[in-house]
Amino acid sequence: MRSMSQNYSNTILIHYGSEIGLKGKNQPQFRRRLKENLQLKLKSMGMDWVVDETRGHLSISIPSKYEGLIEPALQKIGEVFGVAWLAHARRIPHHGFTWDSQASDTKDLHSHFVELANERYAAGKTFCVRVNRADKSLPFTSSEMEARLGDVIIKNTKWRQVNLSRPDETFYAEFRKNSCYLFSTKVNGPGGLPVGTSGRVLVLLSGGIDSPVAAYLMAQRGCNVDFIHFTATSLQQTEAENYKVKRIAQHLSNYTLRSRLYLVPYTYFDIALFGHRVHHDLIVFRRFMARVAEELGSQIRAAAVVTGDSLGQVASQTLSNIVSVSRVTGLPILRPLLTYGKNGIVEMAKQIGTFEDSIEPYKDCCSLISRHPKTHSDHNELSELEQHVFSDYQKLIDQTLSDSLCIKFEAGKPLK
Ligand code: ATP
Ligand code: MG
Repeated sequence: MRSMSQNYSNTILIHYGSEIGLKGKNQPQFRRRLKENLQLKLKSMGMDWVVDETRGHLSISIPSKYEGLIEPALQKIGEVFGVAWLAHARRIPHHGFTWDSQASDTKDLHSHFVELANERYAAGKTFCVRVNRADKSLPFTSSEMEARLGDVIIKNTKWRQVNLSRPDETFYAEFRKNSCYLFSTKVNGPGGLPVGTSGRVLVLLSGGIDSPVAAYLMAQRGCNVDFIHFTATSLQQTEAENYKVKRIAQHLSNYTLRSRLYLVPYTYFDIALFGHRVHHDLIVFRRFMARVAEELGSQIRAAAVVTGDSLGQVASQTLSNIVSVSRVTGLPILRPLLTYGKNGIVEMAKQIGTFEDSIEPYKDCCSLISRHPKTHSDHNELSELEQHVFSDYQKLIDQTLSDSLCIKFEAGKPLK
């Protein structure tokens, strides 16, 4: 057996989820979007590596001068929706394997496998070999090849013990047309659908824990996500720089990729309300946010507005109050967290990486208004009240939006 094998390239092998695999005629479009999103992610790292896309998988050949960047690249690619799993693999080109162990391609395969096994050797541990024969024309079955490669490892390395059910280490070989991928560690991706395959939504982003998670979940189902956040006063670009909500939106754009954050002051709403004693002030405010979001949503061609509401979480989110807010917009309001409990949402926020920013103290608008909102409201009563207080609602919406500030992000970075 040769001691040093050549002729392989360091590759990142990327598998998409079965959901994309099931897309039938639309599958190429989903794959293409996944490829574009991967390329955008690499660009954010300053890399112009080429993503190859074929039926069944995607791959990125890493130029040898960039080997040190493979680990961070795996981490970044692991944030791209649609990716089921990925692996740092050796890609060995071949011209059709035969069962003859003296054939040059087969000898090459064996020596690469031995090298991989030696790199991962751990005394006293067990191993197994898993073969995926994606190229069905090859003249051996997966289990035949697993047995063969297991034997090659035993005979040529210090690995001794095979354990097929609970191995300490698994060595994978994936046989495809013209190349074979060898690897030992699979990294899970976030699954879901590639961002940009499900339409655009506008997320009402507060400084809290829930709405960032709602945004993440919508992007995971393939939506393009933009954000709207209501602030007590209008902000200048420089003031927004280290703003908590800006940091949350920027972090979320690691997943949502291309996103805009609209910072919208509710000063005109406050002015209109001044001097009126309004019961239900929080729900009136929520209805205001929904109307402004609807207007902006239609300007940016969003198909729906999204909130982080969870049924019964707080008094403002009873079924009756949620319905009262939904009644004011023609654009649907989606609530991906509606049935989630707080603990589950907190867990997700920690995994996504927004939790720490979310719990930072923040003078949020909702704490400025009523502390004890009523649990029941009625759309017709509220409409009457609004007609009385707001003489020209459309003007209020237009004024509010005219004072907004837009910040753009791309894959975790602000765009100049
Ligand atoms: P979160 O729900 O994100 O944890 P929160 O608990 O502070 O934040 P709630 O009072 O629960 O906010 O508000 C319910 C939903 O209303 C939020 O999930 C968010 O979608 C929306 N919302 C609240 N405040 C704002 C705001 N200032 N700007 C934009 N949307 C907001
Ligand atoms: Mg909440």
